[in-house]
Amino acid sequence: MVGRWLAWLLAVLPLAATASGTIAIDVGHYLERPGVISAHGRPEFEFNLDLARDIDKELQARGRSTQLIGADGDMNSLARRPRQAAGAALFISVHHDSMQDKLLSTWTYEGVERKYGDRFDGFSLFVSRENPGWKKGLRCASAIGARLIKAGFKPSLYHADRNVGENRPFADKPNGVHYFDRLAVLRDAKMPALLFEAGVIINRTEELRMADPAERQQIAAAVAGAIEECMP
Ligand SMILES: [Zn+2]
Repeated sequence: MVGRWLAWLLAVLPLAATASGTIAIDVGHYLERPGVISAHGRPEFEFNLDLARDIDKELQARGRSTQLIGADGDMNSLARRPRQAAGAALFISVHHDSMQDKLLSTWTYEGVERKYGDRFDGFSLFVSRENPGWKKGLRCASAIGARLIKAGFKPSLYHADRNVGENRPFADKPNGVHYFDRLAVLRDAKMPALLFEAGVIINRTEELRMADPAERQQIAAAVAGAIEECMP
């Protein structure tokens, strides 16, 4: 009896270990409401999807099990995103940034008048103290920020700015991590969760950097390496 039970346990153990170590990668926004429209006119959802897929590949190359959420572009419920990640060890929501309307100007690109803002650039990371795993989420966010800085990216100080940003308090200033306690997608997650704004795509220069596959690859490698470090 014990032998059979042991055999069963050994059979299910690897599965259980994989499920509990799964990294859920959430593709921010969906086709119908694709988020920010970049300075050159490309929807944020497309940037998010490209980067989420690269992070997914980098994690899998490191032997991690992963789950992409919202990759088909029809995930129109914010609440369903963390629910779909149930059982994962970490939830990371992938986004690209804009800034407040008052900081934007207009220009004409390929015959279409578009909004842009070149004043701020850089990445931002967010955790919610209403997320039960926020301390672990913060450790991962700090590790991601540190790796990005090492790879030559810089944190944006925009969201913390009292006058032009949203006055969001820093959780880890040197590594670009902020508190955003009411953020639903993080608050509702049962596992450690963080939101990653990879760069500012309303900024004309930074948008081009974000669209460059080599740059994206570097970001993805930094994120995957940091996850390996904070969730060994
Ligand atoms: Zn977004």
